[in-house]
Amino acid sequence: MSAHKIIIAIDGYSSCGKSTLAKELARKLHYNFIDSGAMYRAITLYFIRNGVNVADTEAVNAAISDINLSFELNPQTRQSEICLNDENVEGYIRDMLVSDKVSEVAAIKAVRTFAVAQQKTMGKKKGIIMDGRDIGTSVFPGAELKIFMTADPDVRVMRRFKELHAINPHIGLDEIRHNLELRDYIDSTREESPLRRADDAILLDNSNMSREEQLRFVEQLVENLVTDKKSIAAN
Ligand code: C5P
Repeated sequence: MSAHKIIIAIDGYSSCGKSTLAKELARKLHYNFIDSGAMYRAITLYFIRNGVNVADTEAVNAAISDINLSFELNPQTRQSEICLNDENVEGYIRDMLVSDKVSEVAAIKAVRTFAVAQQKTMGKKKGIIMDGRDIGTSVFPGAELKIFMTADPDVRVMRRFKELHAINPHIGLDEIRHNLELRDYIDSTREESPLRRADDAILLDNSNMSREEQLRFVEQLVENLVTDKKSIAAN
């Protein structure tokens, strides 16, 4: 693959497999992968642990000024994991307690300003794949490649169930369905950079696609982009 580095923005609904695809693509391209959802989840974890009232603007602002987010590489999995004030919290952020609250926290303007500023800095050197809800519309509106992912809701519920059931055998399908529907609703209807497909984003409905097929689809898009750039430069 070419040394010409680009920014790839992957947005879409909850549990569409955005992070899975982004991770695999990043490995192939030797790009950095940033899971922006993990940042909102870590902020939410801080709010829960410290009993921050989301309706209290002063408390929210004070909490944000106490939060430091960073990523560290897990040497075993070679994946980056999120740290909240230097504590690796990757193992806590997918908990249902966090999932139930994260969209409410992510809808707060001050929270988004804080997270988006860091995300923009991470993209300065390009060679990055970031997944989330507003990456192509707000974080990197100039990203060279934007993908908007969606999938049949039943498929998404089953995927999430399999993932979570391995960690918590008591989890039920209804609980998962409710959480996905609620998050999609809050994420799409909030005032601050709501979830929507950017005009120039390519739609990827992966309801009936394997992981390999999705990866090949996006790799081909990257290949086309890089080839176009080379032919522009040659003319
Ligand atoms: O990607 P993930 O499902 O882990 O994201 C958790 C939540 O974080 C989303 O439901 C959404 O509320 C919020 N989020 C966001 N903007 C992003 C990424 C995630 O608002 N760029």
